[in-house]
Amino acid sequence: MTRARSSPERLRRLGMGRPITRRDFIDGIAVAAALAAPSRTLAAVGADVVGTAAQDRPSYYPPALKGMRGSHPGSFEAAHALRDGAFRGSGTTPDETGEQYDLIVVGGGISGLAAAYFYRSKAGAGARILILDNHDDFGGHAKRNEFQLGGKIQLINGGTLGIDSPRPYSPVAAALLAALGVDVVALAARLADRGFYASLGLGPGIFFDKDTFGADRLVKGKLSSPEFLEQAPLSEAVRRDILRLETEPIDYLPGLSSGEKKARLSRISYRDFLLDLVKVDPSVIPIYQSRTHGEWGVGIDAVSALDVWPFGLPGFEGLNLDPGSAPRMGYTAAGYADGGSYKFHFPDGNASIARLLVSSLIPQAVPGSTVEDAVTARIDYGRLDRPEGTTRIRLGSTALSVATSGPGSSPVVVDVVYSRMHQICVARAQHCVLACWNMMIPYLCPQLPDRQKEALHYQVKVPLVYTNVALSNWRAFAALGVSVIHCPGGYHSSVLLNPVTDIGSYHSPRSPNEAILVRMVRTPCYPGMSERDQHRMGRAELLTTSFATFEEKIRDQLGRILGPGGFDPARDITAITVNRWPHGYAYEYNPLFDPDWQKGEAPHEIGRSRFGPITIANSDAAAAAYTDAAIDQAHRAVAELLGR
Ligand SMILES: Cc1cc2nc3c(=O)[nH]c(=O)nc-3n(C[C@H](O)[C@H](O)[C@H](O)COP(=O)(O)OP(=O)(O)OC[C@H]3O[C@@H](n4cnc5c(N)ncnc54)[C@H](O)[C@@H]3O)c2cc1C
Repeated sequence: MTRARSSPERLRRLGMGRPITRRDFIDGIAVAAALAAPSRTLAAVGADVVGTAAQDRPSYYPPALKGMRGSHPGSFEAAHALRDGAFRGSGTTPDETGEQYDLIVVGGGISGLAAAYFYRSKAGAGARILILDNHDDFGGHAKRNEFQLGGKIQLINGGTLGIDSPRPYSPVAAALLAALGVDVVALAARLADRGFYASLGLGPGIFFDKDTFGADRLVKGKLSSPEFLEQAPLSEAVRRDILRLETEPIDYLPGLSSGEKKARLSRISYRDFLLDLVKVDPSVIPIYQSRTHGEWGVGIDAVSALDVWPFGLPGFEGLNLDPGSAPRMGYTAAGYADGGSYKFHFPDGNASIARLLVSSLIPQAVPGSTVEDAVTARIDYGRLDRPEGTTRIRLGSTALSVATSGPGSSPVVVDVVYSRMHQICVARAQHCVLACWNMMIPYLCPQLPDRQKEALHYQVKVPLVYTNVALSNWRAFAALGVSVIHCPGGYHSSVLLNPVTDIGSYHSPRSPNEAILVRMVRTPCYPGMSERDQHRMGRAELLTTSFATFEEKIRDQLGRILGPGGFDPARDITAITVNRWPHGYAYEYNPLFDPDWQKGEAPHEIGRSRFGPITIANSDAAAAAYTDAAIDQAHRAVAELLGR
């Protein structure tokens, strides 16, 4: 969708000035104060102007914040200043906290929390652990968005959604879930509501937008149906090619064995497969271009034909490919070709897992005792970082330097310098696990060997946005008969009603007259470039897009899609949260662009080498963007420190 002219009349019609919940200034104050402060302050989420740690204020409850979340203002400035050289060479002497720990973990995502869990299990309950995270909430990507709508709590994930991985959970990761009380099979079986929207007659649809397809039109149903295609604003030739692609089991690689076909498909993009082998009209491409956005963060120009095959994209039925993975498949595709793991998601996604980990580390911070309790609990953030606690979680704290005390000193300690509030502080530990993002580590630890630093720089995380919009009702969805909408030319490429997920005392809305949350996904892509270059461009785009721009795009897009069902963006939108993740999924390598690494030679394997008392966890260290990978890497990193 191109940007329509923003006349005052248009902005009024979209409701841009309406008093919805879109911004919270709780941390904006801190950031503004920090940035106005003397140069030794690099950033300051986590404090108010009088210097009390924000997380210790009674009202502190980041899951309920709206506006720009994910990489929110105040969470990344210090890291970017470090990258740009503003810290090293500034001559700053950090303030001594006088704190000495057994372990400091950098990064409070699932991997960092799991590392603390494993370390404590191994070293004993008395182990003193500090977890630092730059965000105003724990969980990393596994972030919770909480809304009060019509007097009821409604939850949705701000990032990591599900217990769902390309491979079965390892014994370590499965045992951790079990120890937290998460019985995935039982929870999934109890979710009897998966077909709720379908039971109301709601299903998928595609929104064809005027700028891409010549007319704004929502068509209910699937591309494989002739009735659907008849209503779509597409030429006869395009309809014919789509129907052939979707329904005719043609062998587009006759004469080759299954193995030879897979090898060939691994070397061409799905786009080229459609154009060169299926020989579709080029105008078919825009309809499929963004079908890979959610999984890969790039379009079909940058994903191999073989990798999309396990995801059910059309064109493969007549090829009679043998089931199962093949060489030169990406991690995700290969895993799903072989079956994948179990599937379940909490109403707030894997933020519930982060909560359960925190509950096990600092029980007094999380009211209740069951998994169900953790879903609805109001966390007491003031208890996360108490001097008397053996495990402490310090939010709004960006690590700037992690260094060992050097040869000759005994015992070897790790100095961790971090920025928080209006200060730069140092704390010390016997061990350190870096459960943060790979690309940050060379800046934190210049002591690492050059080869390792180079390897850590290789992976470029996938940028993406999960936008969550609160609506006063969903009558328009019901009237139009849709619950999930693909928007091939849209700013956001998908729109869906929050899935029904009841658990414990938490209940999802059932009536179209009730308020609801809607998820929209955007992945900024630059077709024609390599995957990593597209991610670099997308990251820059996300960091420079204002909330007002997002809001206008959201209102415009929802208004155009749902308007024919009676939706009015100015009237029906009551809150917006944009979860912006410029550094999103871990990079998993792409057979179209990356070399076939020898075992042990891939950048993530070189990058995660132990450096004395410092080890490296996080999902980047597995080159796998999944919760089980984050847990497994935490386990490995702790085992490297303490033995198995
Ligand atoms: C939008 C989105 C959806 C996803 N959906 C799924 C899903 O459905 N299922 C699934 O299994 N996985 C999903 N993932 C992948 C997800 O990344 C992993 O599952 C997992 O949550 C990663 O955990 P982690 O601890 O390795 O990394 P993160 O969650 O990224 O945590 C690392 C933390 O370290 C912090 N940090 C970085 N540098 C510093 C520093 N210098 N000082 C202090 N802190 C620092 C980061 O800000 C972050 O908070 C999704 C990811 C995204 C972005």
